[in-house]
Amino acid sequence: MASGAVGENGLNFLLDQESPAERRVFVVRRLSTCGGIGGDIGACTRVLGRVSIISVAKLFRTDNPAVTLLHELGHQAGLADRPDPRALMYRGAPTPRVDAAINVAEIARFRLFFWSP
Ligand SMILES: [Zn+2]
Repeated sequence: MASGAVGENGLNFLLDQESPAERRVFVVRRLSTCGGIGGDIGACTRVLGRVSIISVAKLFRTDNPAVTLLHELGHQAGLADRPDPRALMYRGAPTPRVDAAINVAEIARFRLFFWSP
Protein backbone atom coordinates (compact mmCIF):
# COMPACT_ATOMS: atom_id res chain seq x y z
CA MET A 1 0.00 0.00 0.00
CA ALA A 2 1.27 3.45 -0.83
CA SER A 3 0.90 6.18 1.72
CA GLY A 4 1.10 9.94 2.01
CA ALA A 5 -0.06 12.50 -0.49
CA VAL A 6 0.30 11.71 -4.17
CA GLY A 7 0.88 14.47 -6.70
CA GLU A 8 1.70 14.19 -10.38
CA ASN A 9 5.23 12.83 -9.86
CA GLY A 10 4.04 10.23 -7.39
CA LEU A 11 1.16 9.31 -9.65
CA ASN A 12 3.51 8.73 -12.56
CA PHE A 13 5.73 6.63 -10.31
CA LEU A 14 2.77 4.46 -9.31
CA LEU A 15 1.54 4.15 -12.89
CA ASP A 16 5.02 3.12 -14.00
CA GLN A 17 4.84 0.17 -11.60
CA GLU A 18 2.27 -1.60 -13.72
CA SER A 19 3.18 -4.75 -15.53
CA PRO A 20 1.19 -5.75 -18.59
CA ALA A 21 -0.03 -8.88 -16.82
CA GLU A 22 -1.67 -7.35 -13.81
CA ARG A 23 -4.06 -4.69 -12.63
CA ARG A 24 -3.55 -2.85 -9.40
CA VAL A 25 -5.38 -0.60 -7.02
CA PHE A 26 -3.26 1.60 -4.79
CA VAL A 27 -4.77 3.20 -1.71
CA VAL A 28 -3.18 6.48 -0.66
CA ARG A 29 -3.84 8.95 2.09
CA ARG A 30 -4.48 11.85 -0.25
CA LEU A 31 -4.44 12.40 -4.01
CA SER A 32 -3.74 15.93 -5.17
CA THR A 33 -3.56 15.62 -8.94
CA CYS A 34 -4.45 13.30 -11.78
CA GLY A 35 -3.37 13.98 -15.34
CA GLY A 36 -3.52 17.75 -15.03
CA ILE A 37 -6.67 17.79 -12.91
CA GLY A 38 -5.85 19.26 -9.55
CA GLY A 39 -7.63 19.75 -6.28
CA ASP A 40 -9.14 17.32 -3.87
CA ILE A 41 -9.29 14.16 -5.98
CA GLY A 42 -10.98 11.01 -4.78
CA ALA A 43 -9.62 8.52 -7.25
CA CYS A 44 -7.77 8.34 -10.53
CA THR A 45 -7.46 5.82 -13.32
CA ARG A 46 -6.27 6.67 -16.78
CA VAL A 47 -8.70 5.22 -19.28
CA LEU A 48 -7.43 1.80 -20.36
CA GLY A 49 -4.87 2.00 -17.59
CA ARG A 50 -4.32 -0.97 -15.35
CA VAL A 51 -3.66 1.06 -12.22
CA SER A 52 -6.20 2.86 -10.07
CA ILE A 53 -5.22 5.20 -7.27
CA ILE A 54 -7.82 5.61 -4.53
CA SER A 55 -7.65 8.38 -1.92
CA VAL A 56 -8.77 7.33 1.53
CA ALA A 57 -9.22 10.95 2.60
CA LYS A 58 -11.86 11.56 -0.03
CA LEU A 59 -13.31 8.09 -0.34
CA PHE A 60 -14.68 7.90 3.16
CA ARG A 61 -16.34 11.27 2.92
CA THR A 62 -18.58 9.82 0.24
CA ASP A 63 -21.74 7.94 1.02
CA ASN A 64 -20.79 4.96 -1.08
CA PRO A 65 -17.07 4.20 -1.46
CA ALA A 66 -17.91 1.05 -3.42
CA VAL A 67 -19.34 3.18 -6.23
CA THR A 68 -16.07 5.10 -6.48
CA LEU A 69 -14.10 1.85 -6.63
CA LEU A 70 -16.42 0.43 -9.29
CA HIS A 71 -16.12 3.68 -11.26
CA GLU A 72 -12.33 3.32 -11.31
CA LEU A 73 -12.55 -0.35 -12.29
CA GLY A 74 -14.82 0.82 -15.11
CA HIS A 75 -11.93 2.93 -16.38
CA GLN A 76 -9.63 -0.10 -16.15
CA ALA A 77 -12.14 -1.86 -18.40
CA GLY A 78 -11.92 1.01 -20.86
CA LEU A 79 -15.09 2.92 -20.00
CA ALA A 80 -15.01 6.70 -20.28
CA ASP A 81 -16.68 9.22 -18.01
CA ARG A 82 -20.30 10.14 -18.78
CA PRO A 83 -22.08 13.47 -18.24
CA ASP A 84 -25.16 11.92 -16.62
CA PRO A 85 -24.91 12.54 -12.83
CA ARG A 86 -26.89 9.37 -12.17
CA ALA A 87 -24.41 7.17 -14.03
CA LEU A 88 -21.73 5.01 -12.46
CA MET A 89 -19.27 6.56 -14.90
CA TYR A 90 -20.27 10.14 -14.07
CA ARG A 91 -17.21 12.28 -13.53
CA GLY A 92 -17.76 14.78 -10.82
CA ALA A 93 -17.90 15.28 -7.12
CA PRO A 94 -18.62 11.97 -5.45
CA THR A 95 -22.19 12.81 -4.66
CA PRO A 96 -24.24 9.92 -3.33
CA ARG A 97 -24.62 7.49 -6.21
CA VAL A 98 -26.36 4.71 -4.39
CA ASP A 99 -28.53 4.00 -7.41
CA ALA A 100 -25.74 4.59 -9.91
CA ALA A 101 -26.81 3.54 -13.36
CA ILE A 102 -24.81 1.26 -15.59
CA ASN A 103 -25.98 0.71 -19.12
CA VAL A 104 -26.02 -2.46 -21.21
CA ALA A 105 -22.87 -1.52 -23.13
CA GLU A 106 -21.00 -0.87 -19.88
CA ILE A 107 -22.13 -4.19 -18.39
CA ALA A 108 -20.92 -5.93 -21.53
CA ARG A 109 -17.58 -4.17 -21.23
CA PHE A 110 -17.19 -5.20 -17.57
CA ARG A 111 -18.00 -8.80 -18.49
CA LEU A 112 -15.61 -8.85 -21.40
CA PHE A 113 -12.78 -7.27 -19.49
CA PHE A 114 -13.00 -8.93 -16.10
CA TRP A 115 -14.65 -12.28 -16.80
CA SER A 116 -13.25 -13.41 -20.12
CA PRO A 117 -10.89 -16.38 -19.91
ZN1 LIG B 1 -13.90 8.82 -14.11
